[in-house]
Amino acid sequence: TCGICVEKCPFDAIEIINLPQELEDDPTHRYGENAFSLYGLPVPESGKVTGLLGPNGIGKSTAVKILAGEITPNLGRHDDEPSWEKVLDAYRGTELQDYLEAVRSGDISVARKPQYVDQIPDQFGGTTRELLDQTDERGVLDDLVDRLSIRPVMDQSIDSLSGGELQRVALAAALARDRDFYFVDELTPYLDISQRVTAARIVRELAEAEDKAVLVVEHDLAVLDMLADSIHVAYGEPSVYGVVTPPKSVRNGINEYLRGYLDNENMRIRPEAITFEEHAPRPASREETLISYPDMTKSYGDGEFTLTVDGGVIHQNEVLGVVGPNGIGKSTFAQLLADDIEPTSVGGEEGADLDIGLDIAYKPQYVEADQPIRVDAFLSSITDDFGSSYWNTEIGDPLQLERILEQNLTDLSGGERQRVAIAATLSKDADLYLLDEPSAHLDVEQRVLATRAIRRFAENRETTVMVIDHDIYMVDLVSDRLMVFDGEPAAHGRASTPQAMRSGMNEFLANLDVTFRRDENLGRPRINKPGSQLDKQQKRNGEYYYTT
Ligand code: ADP
Ligand code: ADP
Ligand code: MG
Repeated sequence: TCGICVEKCPFDAIEIINLPQELEDDPTHRYGENAFSLYGLPVPESGKVTGLLGPNGIGKSTAVKILAGEITPNLGRHDDEPSWEKVLDAYRGTELQDYLEAVRSGDISVARKPQYVDQIPDQFGGTTRELLDQTDERGVLDDLVDRLSIRPVMDQSIDSLSGGELQRVALAAALARDRDFYFVDELTPYLDISQRVTAARIVRELAEAEDKAVLVVEHDLAVLDMLADSIHVAYGEPSVYGVVTPPKSVRNGINEYLRGYLDNENMRIRPEAITFEEHAPRPASREETLISYPDMTKSYGDGEFTLTVDGGVIHQNEVLGVVGPNGIGKSTFAQLLADDIEPTSVGGEEGADLDIGLDIAYKPQYVEADQPIRVDAFLSSITDDFGSSYWNTEIGDPLQLERILEQNLTDLSGGERQRVAIAATLSKDADLYLLDEPSAHLDVEQRVLATRAIRRFAENRETTVMVIDHDIYMVDLVSDRLMVFDGEPAAHGRASTPQAMRSGMNEFLANLDVTFRRDENLGRPRINKPGSQLDKQQKRNGEYYYTT
């Protein structure tokens, strides 16, 4: 080991990582002897959105509690009575001095969008309207309700809302407040891309137009990129220690993160870089058919929702990305292929059967864990390979399962359950692997590792994987071809036939009216400002994503 990790290195790092300089100084806060310590703090700034980029368990919530005045940091001397006087002494002359002085005098008020919106119904019994009405401190609630498309669920009870609806309600509730400091702990879970872009624009406007300080934790890098004015990277060893770097420009922060090396800190945080291609992947020369499926439809109820599928072909050994708005029929399509539901019509013929005749391993969008058994017992029940060096290298290690193998399925967090579900699906013997929203609940580092694990799995096993996801970087990095869904959410959807990445991205992003430029350095895609030169030019050329 490199001397800092107490457990097995999640990256299989061979390089020796230097002990970070910061660790020789006193921490900002330590919860107790041998307990988690936080080094550094993010700097909230009026009129700006500050991003915090890093894994879960690295101290992000701890930092926010300090900035909100809920924890007086003890500067690592946890047996002393902490005092703001000592803290201010330590931060005198830094960018944080003014802010912390205001915290000490009790002059900072905070509004917060919590990370786990699924827990809101446990804490609040009424309707959406009842929840939101008490938050309308700036007189902008009506506008937020419209822009976040909450109007249709205003009189629904909170416990009947979907994840995406809850997320938008929670965001509106936090942003409607009139406070000095806003903390948004993940903006994008459960939201589709157009909802992500809208939510990001609303947060930006709050900072810019109202001169508020906003701190955002976000794991979708394309969204973080358009959202933040500056970025702190947080790194370390989750639940042991975390270091928050001084602010970096958004571009450098994300690029350094992807490269796996922090320049000013002189720190390697990952052995390999993540790189993007500016051109679409070349079509494979040999394309054998795994499945050829016909035109079909699926209606629910009395046709309240109808999905129309254009027939198509899924190739052997490809990763097929699937994109489209929420409520458009993506999961329905996956369930049709998995034979979990029956189509309404096949090839125009009502009541006909769809007989794919393949073994399909399916990870549903909502992962349930109701069996009170341990993770290792659960995974051994799926594959005899469990625990073999092959299984560890291909599945266990990249999905960081080692430290949770002895826990019960029912005790896992959302991100842990997701990783176990991906592992369980990939451990099955099947012709086609269907992963419905694998990025949900994963932090940024886990997304990077999971993306690579899925890609490697498809290549090494020469098998076929279909990945439905809203994280555009994940879709880009993992897919060979793309399937695009469009239509009117909750009314009707159309699934287009699988196509090449370039035309697929163009079709998908034209529906959204969003274009991407490329970072000069890493070729990383970045969302263009609407109406900018590049945005207009790329739309004229019909090139929304790949630029060469
Ligand atoms: P993040 O927000 O980045 O996920 P947190 O700040 O919530 O991280 O937690 C960082 C670490 O500190 C975790 O290992 C957590 O268990 C630990 N921790 C959080 N609160 C306390 C506390 N009150 N006492 C001891 N440890 C704590
Ligand atoms: P996506 O995966 O693209 O978000 P889904 O396929 O889950 O979309 O759902 C498409 C539409 O069908 C939604 O309006 C959803 O509410 C509806 N729907 C999904 N499953 C059922 C069902 N079993 N019964 C009735 N309506 C359903
Ligand atoms: Mg779905």
